[in-house]
Parts: sequence; C-alpha cells; structure tokens
Amino acid sequence: MSAASQVAAVPSAGQPSLKTFKRIVIKVGSSLLVDRGQGGVKRAWLESLGQDIADLHRQGADVLVVSSGAIALGRTVLGLPERELKLEDSQAAAAIGQIALARIWAEVLADRKLTAGQILVTLGDTEERQRYLNARATIGRLLDLRAVPVINENDTVATNEIRYGDNDRLAARVATMASADLLILLSDVQGLYTAPPAENPTAELIPVVSRVDAAIEAMAGGAASRHSRGGMRTKIEAAKIATAGGTHMIITDGRVEHPVSRLNEGAPCTWFLTGSNPVTARKKWIAGSLEPRGALHVDAGAAQAIANGKSLLPAGVTRVEGSFTSGDCVLIRDFRATEIGRGLVAYDASDAVLIAGRNSQDISGLLGTPGRAVIIHRDDMVLARDRIAAWEPDADGKS
Ligand code: GLU
Repeated sequence: MSAASQVAAVPSAGQPSLKTFKRIVIKVGSSLLVDRGQGGVKRAWLESLGQDIADLHRQGADVLVVSSGAIALGRTVLGLPERELKLEDSQAAAAIGQIALARIWAEVLADRKLTAGQILVTLGDTEERQRYLNARATIGRLLDLRAVPVINENDTVATNEIRYGDNDRLAARVATMASADLLILLSDVQGLYTAPPAENPTAELIPVVSRVDAAIEAMAGGAASRHSRGGMRTKIEAAKIATAGGTHMIITDGRVEHPVSRLNEGAPCTWFLTGSNPVTARKKWIAGSLEPRGALHVDAGAAQAIANGKSLLPAGVTRVEGSFTSGDCVLIRDFRATEIGRGLVAYDASDAVLIAGRNSQDISGLLGTPGRAVIIHRDDMVLARDRIAAWEPDADGKS
C-alpha cells in the first residue's frame, strides 16, 4: 500500500496544521462517544467529528478511526451495573454494542459521502507477523478504495489474557501497521501535564515531547475513568509504540465539537514527535531484526523492476530456496546469486515453488484459491543498496 514517505513538517506548538499529513488515525474513547447519563451516543458531537474527518479526507488524507464504545453502549442496552463487568458480561455487552457502534459510524460517514469499513482485531492480528501482514493488506486495500476503516478490538472473543484492553495502544499498533504518519488520541484531557492536573493545580501542559523518556513516563500518573480503560499511562505507551514506528502522535481534548479541526486553530494539545517516518522505521525493522529463512532467485527483468521501486511478481522468480512460511523474511538474489534485496514474502515456500515463473492471473488456478498478486510487496522490501542507510541511526542519533 502506498505510505507516507516523508516526515511531515511538524508545525510549532499552538499552530499545528494537519494538512501535511497523508495518513491519519483518530482514536475516539468511550467517554467521548457515549453519554454517561443516557447511555446512547452523543450524536451532535459525533456529527462534528464526522465533518472533521470528511474535511481531512477531502484534502486527500487517508483517515482511519479507532473507536471504543462497544462495551459502554452494550451495557446500557443490557442494563448491566456500573461496576466492573465480569468477562462474559463485557463480551456480551460488546457483541450488542458493536453493532450499534458500527451502524452509527456508517451513518455519520455516509452522510458525508464517505464509506465506512469495520475491522475488529484481536491481539494476534498486530503481534503475529503473518496475521499482521494480512490485516495490513486489508487496511491498505480499504484505503486504496478511499474507504474509512473503523477499527475496534474484537471484545466478544478477547479474554483477559489475550487482549490489548485499551484502545490507546491498539490505535498506536494500528497506526504503525497502516504506516500512518499521524495518530490523534482524542481524550478527556488537553494533553500531557507535568503532573496529574486533578491533583496538582500548578501542573502545566507540555506542548511538545521530542522523546518519551523516564521523566515523561513519570509524569503520566495512572488514572483511568470509569468508561474508558486507558489513563495517561496507556497514552504514553501508545506514544512509545507510535514514535518507534515513525508516527507522530497528538493527545488533545476531544470533549469539544470539531476536536480535530480545532487543532488547526491552535487548540491545546501535546505532540509526541518521531525522528523517523513509517517507511524508514519499517524498512529498518525488516533490514535489521529478521533472520532470512530462504531466498527467491529472480531474472534480470525482475531485478530491474525492483531496482525501480516495483514489487516482486511471481513471474520474475526463477528459483525458490529454503523452507519459509508467508510473512518470513527472505533474500532476493539475482541470476549471479548476489543479494539484491530482502523482504517479507507473501507465500509459503511450497506455494512459492508452484507459482514461480507464472503470471499472477494464474495463481488461483495453480493454488486452488485466490492469492496476492505480488510475492514481495515493495513496502515489505529493502534493497541491498538501501540497507546500509536503513541501518544507520537517524539524524538525531536515535537508532
Ligand atoms: N474496546 C473497548 C470498547 O469498545 C474499549 C477499550 C477502551 O476504552 O480503551 O468498548
């Protein structure tokens, strides 16, 4: 999928412009979306956010929403008590609330001529490479089709052992998975303060955090409100995940109407800056931390094509070496067996052997099931000539 390829210029604090960002994830917490008294959705507020999303989309940005609210909506329908829910009750509440949540998002976006696509993820979808690549491909396709993915944890099957639990970290995982260049956490606070503001009236808002270090973590405190699981601590965890993946992050107060467009008017917030960008961070990960499990030998035409920035197609593969599974890192070798690149392969070795040298249209006939047209996508590939650069520390000294 196409990804933001440059570090967007981060404006000075107080006058941010979101126009430079190409792919933006907006995280909406339950306490913003769900009226605590009524138990329904705060429709007028959501309409205003829908307008902000439509504006960003019209300016050309890809927009993804990570929306909480399933459990909060479902518990009202079921009349469940306000105290912490038992696991099976929260799973049941989520099953009921998620339908309503998806419908409301679809309506609000459709009113603005946008198409919503629901994605429910479980922990493994971002933590296991094969599933990660699968979810990433789906998100990529939805964005290519100019849809707005609306994402939540699949709370009906999540258990305490296998869950993110809070949508702050889920949103950060989604942002890096989607190679987003900006993540906006809409919260019930204006940003990160030097101390928890409820306890300390002299606490000051920090406009820019250029690196999440121990001092920043110490400022986070731990509180979470009754409706949302994440407190400031999970937001700082989210900032660590996002910035390591090349995504800038903003925390801002979402309790006002048009919470995103207000950022362009200087609404208070905290920026967490990354010294990288999603493409570089991802290529660094592929180049540096994965053990190759095999190799694809390619012909001269394919070697030239990938040198020109194209994906590797099965047609260009002359030989398959090693026993790998889809999602593994494999080397790409030219006809002299010289390594010209490496990347995450979309097929198991046994299937790669069957489709090597064949046209992508034939994949379905050869494997008996439709498969991906490319064997290594260009976004999942690092060329040998770029590997040194991918290994080098960033300009600011971070590795
Ligand atoms: N996924 C949960 C829900 O939709 C919310 C988790 C959170 O509040 O961070 O109800």
